[in-house]
Amino acid sequence: MNRRAFISTTSVGVAGLALAPDAFAFQQPAAAPPVTSFTELRRGVGMFIGTGGTIGYLVNGDGAIAVDSQFMNTAEICVAGLKQRAPKGIAMLLNTHHHGDHTGGNKAYGVSKIVAHANCLKSHKAVTEEAKTVDQQAYATATFTDTWTEKFGDETIEGRYFGPGHTGGDAVYHFQRANVMHMGDLLFNRAHPNIDRAQGARVDNWIKVLEAVSSRAANDTIFIAGHAKDNAVRNTKAEVLHFRNYLTAVLEHARAGAKAGQSKEEVQKLAALKGFEDNVSPNARLTLAFVLGICYDEVTAK
Ligand SMILES: [Zn+2]
Repeated sequence: MNRRAFISTTSVGVAGLALAPDAFAFQQPAAAPPVTSFTELRRGVGMFIGTGGTIGYLVNGDGAIAVDSQFMNTAEICVAGLKQRAPKGIAMLLNTHHHGDHTGGNKAYGVSKIVAHANCLKSHKAVTEEAKTVDQQAYATATFTDTWTEKFGDETIEGRYFGPGHTGGDAVYHFQRANVMHMGDLLFNRAHPNIDRAQGARVDNWIKVLEAVSSRAANDTIFIAGHAKDNAVRNTKAEVLHFRNYLTAVLEHARAGAKAGQSKEEVQKLAALKGFEDNVSPNARLTLAFVLGICYDEVTAK
């Protein structure tokens, strides 16, 4: 477009707006459609970024498998994209934990098999019964307590439970041949995490979970994080260990404060955690003060 054309188009646009503001407003969509993307990682395993926790997926000759479901609006976009990629359709859904931004779109998949850790199902039922949203849910149909393994085409998927972390029922799903691990919300990369103490979370064990997961991984293992600063959800072992170090530092700060007789509010006053100053808050609630408060509650609990 040359300069004259640009000016001319702009004038028409501005004139149109001035003459008929209502008509202009009417042309605007009620809400912008969500920004979504599919990213292939390795050997048929990929990730879908939309609104809420990262969705993982596998597509091969037997169809598709998804890990988590975000909310209904983006789940529907994800399902449509997976069906395009996998003519045989979606065979099953795996849930990493019960939170609404990972299970709220379960229904959109329309699958008869949903796998989760037993505590995930328990929490999912408890919080949705409390919120009176049971009719909007699709709950796990198969649960496990330690490990779950299934072959799918030429891939083998293993679900494993390492004890409480972000909630009391977080599973890690490992696409073994592709060597991709979906961490759910056990990994918040460079971001202050949510910690669901009411549903069994433990920061002290979360640190051990991250160590156990890392020790099972190879140097080229790809880790999918549930959430991350700038959507950097494709990670390596280095980011997992960085997050382990962050949780260790924040828990130690709370423990030292409690030991010195500080109140929760005093402990929460820390403005930045040394070495982790660049961590971001995913939302207004998830701040360093929130994480310090949870850690304080944990170390002072009787
Ligand atoms: Zn979560």
